[in-house]
Amino acid sequence: MKQQRTLAIIGGMSWESTLTYYKLINEGVRESLGGQHSADILMHSLDFAHIEALQAQGDWEAMAQVMEDSAKRLKLAGAEGLLIATNTMHKLADNVIKASGLPLIHIADATVSAIQAKGLNKIALLGTKFTMGDASDNATHFYKSRFIEAGIDVIVPDDTQQNVVHSIIYDELCQGVINAKSKTAFIQVIRSLSEQGAQGVILGCTEIGLLINSNDSHIPVFDTAHIHANAGVRFLLS
Ligand code: GLU
Repeated sequence: MKQQRTLAIIGGMSWESTLTYYKLINEGVRESLGGQHSADILMHSLDFAHIEALQAQGDWEAMAQVMEDSAKRLKLAGAEGLLIATNTMHKLADNVIKASGLPLIHIADATVSAIQAKGLNKIALLGTKFTMGDASDNATHFYKSRFIEAGIDVIVPDDTQQNVVHSIIYDELCQGVINAKSKTAFIQVIRSLSEQGAQGVILGCTEIGLLINSNDSHIPVFDTAHIHANAGVRFLLS
């Protein structure tokens, strides 16, 4: 008898973090079902060079096409639910839902729940510049608004720090480069956001966990890749 639903992952953005998802979801299923059990997963791993070029050009229409096409193909292949293994590309979450007609496990909503479980209401956000946005656009932003609606205030780094965080993500982490200096830079950014009142920090890019974890931060860390993968496990087993 089938003990799981089929979960589809739109990944490869970058594959460095999709690997984390694949491992964590399989480990979660084994932990629950035991023995030889592993996760019932479909995956479409995109070529990140193509996506990254479109992001840099701001061509969200072309990216919407890619994501909608991927979602449709996964639905045809038998997916019962979808997971987009990147924060940034959740800008196109509604496109994916509409194109496939499938439930989407939203990375921000899973993270909201994790923060609420710890009783925090003011949180720092690190991610790509697309995900961090300006300090002034919280209420209308595709990602931050989900925290604001849940009563969680979001603080983002200033422009200079955002540039540092953004380039470490694209020039290093998405290319599998782990650099001690970059780790120090991230720790400094977290420190300055906590001085502005952040009670915890969202690692709002799925690769950041490759560089830092809770041992590197004096405030609680919410690693979106881990939180999202756990939500994927709950979906598979529900
Ligand atoms: N994986 C990253 C994220 O979570 C960045 C790569 C991308 O732009 O999708 O946002």
